[in-house]
Amino acid sequence: SRCRIRHFFQTPRLPKTGETIHGDKFLIGFGGKGANQCIQAARLGAKTTMICKVGKDFFGDNYIQNFKDNGVHTDFVGQTSDAATGVASITVNDAGENAIVIVAGANMLLSNEELQTALPAISHAKVMVCQLEINPQTSLQALQMAQESKVKTIFNPAPAIPDLDAGFYKASDVFCCNETEAELLTGSSVTNVEEACGAAQELLKRGCGAVIITLGPQGCVVLKEQKSTSDHVPTTAVTAVDTTGAGDSFIGALAFYMAHYPTMPLEEMARRANQVAVVSVQAFGTQTSYPFRASLPDELF
Ligand code: ADP
Repeated sequence: SRCRIRHFFQTPRLPKTGETIHGDKFLIGFGGKGANQCIQAARLGAKTTMICKVGKDFFGDNYIQNFKDNGVHTDFVGQTSDAATGVASITVNDAGENAIVIVAGANMLLSNEELQTALPAISHAKVMVCQLEINPQTSLQALQMAQESKVKTIFNPAPAIPDLDAGFYKASDVFCCNETEAELLTGSSVTNVEEACGAAQELLKRGCGAVIITLGPQGCVVLKEQKSTSDHVPTTAVTAVDTTGAGDSFIGALAFYMAHYPTMPLEEMARRANQVAVVSVQAFGTQTSYPFRASLPDELF
């Protein structure tokens, strides 16, 4: 999974080539899809282990401390001196426009051999969640290792790549993506519930156990193997403050429900994951907006 330190700059306008300008605000945050998802699952009460790589640097040390502070096991968070910890520099101007630089850094150095050393942890897990923010072949191997050990898999094809290896579908018990990713993977427009249902059918045909496509304020659609029609699982209407990382909150919650309530219908897990993610869009920040179990209604547990 990806680990990334986020540097936010708020400036009146974006700097031009060769220009130095004064910004209004600077914030450092912890990000990366895998890390966000893991931390949301941990905050709901899941026992979590992160498998990733950071740099042997100041950010890497801080990154590991953040996992520990959130109760995530870090035995398989490697530190390398061959690359820096992954970073994102995000500059946002007063008009809300942004300019972003991402350096994957240490994330790309997680090798299949290192992944093998995590097999004892993988084989004893209830659920394995993978994304595409590390070397795709390493991600695929992780999913396959989990499946061979009869561990449930959630695959989040993000950031999406157009020619996704067919093996990813077969290795996914639940294939969970957003509208943009569904569009890129199917080549058809996905802008509403009906189109999302069509895309889910197409993705399911490629061999995954079930498909969930998240639809922002519209909740999500769920399509399971046994059924021919997808269910639209709506969510509560709220005034969103910052939707960054909502999808990761949803996936982290889904992983928690799959691990703790293995017999619960997938639609019900999705309904509850919507209720967790809706909390995350009502506060600023990514991980900072993710709810803890104690602040959520009992009916979600
Ligand atoms: P991503 O962050 O990957 O773009 P989405 O925007 O689809 O993902 O959001 C993921 C989930 O977060 C949705 O399925 C929904 O449960 C919740 N969510 C996102 N935006 C809103 C919103 N404006 N109002 C209510 N829930 C939201």
